Amino acid sequence: MSLRRKIYYHLKPLLPFALRVSVRRWFAKRKLRQCQDIWPIKPGTEKPPPGWPGWPDGKQFAVVLTHDVEGPVGLQRIKPLIELEMRLGFRSCYNLIPEGSYEVTQELRDHITSRGFEVGVHDLYHDGKLFSSRKNFRQCAPRINHYLKEWGVVGFRAGFMHHNLDWIHDLHVQYDCSTFDTDPFEPQPEGVDTIFPFWVPAPGAEVRSQKSEVGSQTSGLGPPTSGPRRATSNSPTPSPRTPPYFRSLPSPA
Ligand SMILES: [Zn+2]
Repeated sequence: MSLRRKIYYHLKPLLPFALRVSVRRWFAKRKLRQCQDIWPIKPGTEKPPPGWPGWPDGKQFAVVLTHDVEGPVGLQRIKPLIELEMRLGFRSCYNLIPEGSYEVTQELRDHITSRGFEVGVHDLYHDGKLFSSRKNFRQCAPRINHYLKEWGVVGFRAGFMHHNLDWIHDLHVQYDCSTFDTDPFEPQPEGVDTIFPFWVPAPGAEVRSQKSEVGSQTSGLGPPTSGPRRATSNSPTPSPRTPPYFRSLPSPA
């Protein structure tokens, strides 16, 4: 994480909300001029990757609907929003912060899942510091894994869409949705240049072992998430710096 972002997240709790919004608007306006060619749609991101097996059941596309519940106000809106989505025929994923500013009850999680919606783990404290250092991420990972297991869920999204593709293998997830195709306005603005899900082998993972795991992963492309979903592998690992994300997907039949 850059020094500027580290300083920002340390100071953030002390800054008035209105000031933070004004500063972000100023940055966004300045940035908008620089990125009109790649936002909100970056040409090329819509191209299926080589070897793309297609969406399940021959579907033409997938729409993913997710909600990151950031605070108590958002928490109160979950149930009415679920009703609205059900009336419109949608199902979505609610990403909840395990140790944030509200309590995540079993009753709430059951309410969400019993209606066909999904619950995901959203960060741990949502203070912007999860990826501040390797050491900190290692310390937080067991807590996150604890909540994944206790809640019986498989998906994760980091606060502020922070991400580090190598570290995420510490989490016991079936997918991570902390990356995006293009969004220069995010605090960590590097996009992954695709709207498709992709596979990230663990550092040093054997291609052979990826294949068997990818086979089972791609059969489960149905559950809702947002942005390009990234499957992860906890296999032992060669260097994946040139990401063979798609090479390990099974060829179309
Ligand atoms: Zn968030």
